[in-house]
Amino acid sequence: MTVLVDSDCKTSAQSNPILRERGQREVFCGLTGIVWLHRKMQDAFFLIVGSRTCAHLMQSAAGVMIFAEPRFATAIIEERDLAGLADANEELDKTVQRLLARRPDIKLLFLVGSCPSEVIKLDLARAAQRLSKSFAPKVRILNYSGSGIETTFTQGEDACLASMVPELPEDKSGEPSLLVVGALADIVEDQFSRLFEQIGIPNVQFFPSRSADDLPPIGKNTSFLLAQPFLGETARLLETRGAQRLPAPFPLGVEGTTAWLKAAANAWGICQQKFDSVIEMPRARAEKSLERQRAALAGKSVFFFPDSQLEIPLARFLSREIGMRLTEVGTPYLHKIHLKEELELLPENTQLSEGQDVDRQLDRCRGVQPDISVCGLGLANPLEAEGLTTKWAIELVFTPIQGFEQAADLAELFARPLNRRMRLAV
Ligand code: SF4
Repeated sequence: MTVLVDSDCKTSAQSNPILRERGQREVFCGLTGIVWLHRKMQDAFFLIVGSRTCAHLMQSAAGVMIFAEPRFATAIIEERDLAGLADANEELDKTVQRLLARRPDIKLLFLVGSCPSEVIKLDLARAAQRLSKSFAPKVRILNYSGSGIETTFTQGEDACLASMVPELPEDKSGEPSLLVVGALADIVEDQFSRLFEQIGIPNVQFFPSRSADDLPPIGKNTSFLLAQPFLGETARLLETRGAQRLPAPFPLGVEGTTAWLKAAANAWGICQQKFDSVIEMPRARAEKSLERQRAALAGKSVFFFPDSQLEIPLARFLSREIGMRLTEVGTPYLHKIHLKEELELLPENTQLSEGQDVDRQLDRCRGVQPDISVCGLGLANPLEAEGLTTKWAIELVFTPIQGFEQAADLAELFARPLNRRMRLAV
């Protein structure tokens, strides 16, 4: 175990260095991203090439779909596949052929790597190329890794979107366009579409899109806004294609949403008056809706274990708009460039930590006895058993929380466990 203290990292919390830990971690793997990605991309299918453990993880994370045809599955690597790689490739080809023959609705197939497929060095990139020859153009076949080795669960989305960037067509129109990057619930996407249109930004697309046929074109005139803070590789690849990131805080809460929309408005030269007139009503509604949650949560303390990579924007929202007290804000990775605007908004003296040494961090959490701890499922039960109130970080990714209309729902996600604890204590 190593603890690194980065005293060079100057944030608004200048007086506190970032604690960097590289010890045992408690996080879900990147396969989990399939849960929200398969809902978003409605003609895509995710074929995990993995073990029974991977299949169980997906079943318990996503639940069982009763009414719809499933859009993910696990091709189980059996022991005999482990003995001979040639068989594993043949089996995979047969599985894909059977799947695509039975499911003509699939337009985009992801072969998703796992720890077992990486251990036996099954080359899914080659498999995707080989299978594409048989099924293109009707079905596009891509691959990415959702393996749990050295990842955290939201990186699954980053890897998935990164695998799609080379597929995006070149934008030859010469017109400026805005790309919103990161899977958003359809309802949130529709709200943002309306707001951008009213602000005066006409050419807006979302990535990932709902349909595989709707890949947004990109080029030198594309500006992009990240909707999620965990898309480092996707952003890097978009930049290599000529697109430019608009620096902004993330659209969580009233302040984050306003600043995020404003970054686009500034890039399009929209005047302040026009911008204010469009956001005035939704902003006022959101501020009003936060009042009740603020009354319940102000002054309460919160401790973030590193899990979703949403921790820093969430901490900013909870402290500045809800009045909660930050004890420690842990994040699996700290992307200093993408999070610069967020870090500047954090209160001074915020204790940040990056990476994890779970036992040490649990001791720090017990030491401060926060009113609420945001953590992964694996830590929630033990902490609850010790009398601490917890919030599952994964719920914050599954739930629509971005934008003005969802600001109160986001605060409610933190109020609910505290209310439950209070009711239990009565
Ligand atoms: S950590 Fe590895 S083995 Fe476990 S579910 Fe994830 S990919 Fe499968």
